[in-house]
Amino acid sequence: MRKALIALVLIAGAFLLFRHFQPAIGERLFARAVAANVGRDARDGLPDGLHVALCGAGSPLADPRRAGPCTAVIAGRRLFIVDTGGGSTRRLAEMGLPVGDIEALLLTHFHSDHIDGLGELMTLRWANGGSAAPLPVFGPPGVDTVVQGFNAAYALDRGYRVAHHGADVVPPAGHGAAPSAFAADRPVVVLDAGGLRVTAFPVGHDPVRPAVGYRFDYAGRSAVISGDTAPGGGIAAQAKGADLLVHEALSPAMVGVIEKALRGAGNARAAKIMSDIPDYHTSPEDAARTAAAAKVRMLVLNHVVPPVPLRILEPYFLGGAGERYNERYRGPIVVGADGMVFSLPRGTDSIERSDLL
Ligand SMILES: [Zn+2]
Ligand SMILES: [Zn+2]
Repeated sequence: MRKALIALVLIAGAFLLFRHFQPAIGERLFARAVAANVGRDARDGLPDGLHVALCGAGSPLADPRRAGPCTAVIAGRRLFIVDTGGGSTRRLAEMGLPVGDIEALLLTHFHSDHIDGLGELMTLRWANGGSAAPLPVFGPPGVDTVVQGFNAAYALDRGYRVAHHGADVVPPAGHGAAPSAFAADRPVVVLDAGGLRVTAFPVGHDPVRPAVGYRFDYAGRSAVISGDTAPGGGIAAQAKGADLLVHEALSPAMVGVIEKALRGAGNARAAKIMSDIPDYHTSPEDAARTAAAAKVRMLVLNHVVPPVPLRILEPYFLGGAGERYNERYRGPIVVGADGMVFSLPRGTDSIERSDLL
């Protein structure tokens, strides 16, 4: 009894001491975290080559492990972003990828979930990098309308920040984004400089037209990003022999469960939307078929629909793709989540995985 009493007094004393020193402990921890993160550049730890980092592996549906669609491609040290879904710019910062250094944004199509981060991306690139020119945005026809709309919406904010920080810190001419449209009815090289070639190619996402995917070739390595697409089309041909295929994926079985629940709850409108979406997306099984036809080394699934918040759900999400049937893909299949990095070092045929979150 007495021992228990002494233990209780000791615990209470330790707790009071901790409460007393909590601000000082917080001060130390915070200073340490700031020192570790200020000036951090995740590119410093990467070998020379081509790298693909998931800054948003999700969709319009809320998912704690996945921001809206965003894929970072790093060629040497050059940083490109494909699509800018909501929350993905903050994810880039969390991952230690310097937003101020982004060379260009490439849009696959203009569905809201792929462009709703543009205001944040162009503003933080400007504020962090002090860029003298707007963010170049490549996209199929329609990109001008989208970019001009964002520039107009953020014009007042530009004025506030220039007035507050000064034109030498945030050059007015560097604010916003500058659209650059390319033909989307056939494969077209949109960027070819410094050993990096970026090719856009049409994909099938009807009734959304135009819609494209991108292939990056650098240092003898290659990565293909499908964008939103129904199965088939030209992706297997464009991804032929690529090292990495980042392909969108939707589980029809899981979406069916949601649709049924919505109908049961009397929400026919949302149920109708759920029943519509599988026809312009690709199941994990069909993505695996494309990967097999293209003979890529690794398949990474992104634009994960519906949200897969727990890893334990991944085999269910993968469905037949997880079983590795002979006629399907024999290589590794990764269910993408934010922070994942796939490195393709120059002069090798290896794919190294790391995580920035
Ligand atoms: Zn989408
Ligand atoms: Zn879409």
